[in-house]
Amino acid sequence: MKIIIANWKMNKTGDSAKEFFTEFASLNKNSNTVIICPPFTLLHLTKDKGFHLGAQNMHQAEKGAFTGEISATQLKDAGVKYVLIGHSERRIIFGETCETVNKKNLQCLLHELIPVVCIGETLEERESGQTNEVLTKQLSIAFNSFSSETITPIVAYEPVWAIGTGKVATLEQISETHQFIRDRLQFHFGNAEKGGSGDRISVLYGGSVTDQNAQEIMSIPNVDGVLVGGASLDAKKFATIVNTQPQI
Ligand code: PEP
Repeated sequence: MKIIIANWKMNKTGDSAKEFFTEFASLNKNSNTVIICPPFTLLHLTKDKGFHLGAQNMHQAEKGAFTGEISATQLKDAGVKYVLIGHSERRIIFGETCETVNKKNLQCLLHELIPVVCIGETLEERESGQTNEVLTKQLSIAFNSFSSETITPIVAYEPVWAIGTGKVATLEQISETHQFIRDRLQFHFGNAEKGGSGDRISVLYGGSVTDQNAQEIMSIPNVDGVLVGGASLDAKKFATIVNTQPQI
């Protein structure tokens, strides 16, 4: 069973979401776990449609004067179980730092929401050989003081250069990087032998995943699923991704 997450970003209205749900329901074979992260205005329509409900962002404070933001309590109230934290668009466009990501993760923990922590290097960082260093920093700050006893987080490896660009990381790059992330998670949270959760944390790949490449990506042994942006807006394409049977 793989985990497939749809990130609809700032797309769809009530009518187009309803069309999506009807078409998707006729195609879905329920073979994998599906989480939909719609815009906040569509959470109520997405709830109870047979998906797990996710949010695209969350503020780190409990409540208060934060115009335009949304809290963990409000998301829970709307039926949300998962939250994307530190998506590269949040980091790059809205200036979220690794420290903000950490605060948001701790807030998720407090309210028993499952954070889907997005990490990834820029093209410049990959080309200058800094990928592992960048991922190590992002992971260690994101999970500073995070105890995985009650909540097992999810990690999404999303190379910034592959998001929305049509440029997919090679199977070797994905495999190598996921292995590195797994090692870091074991280092941070401990492995199964030590009673830690480093082996249990699902590591997903994101970045230009489509109905055409989902099967080969999900067949890489250490890829536990995918985070899909653009291709998740089309019910037919997304159903093909969700119905994928990995070859492992
Ligand atoms: C994303 O938004 O997390 C993403 C992976 O987008 P896309 O699939 O469009 O590259």
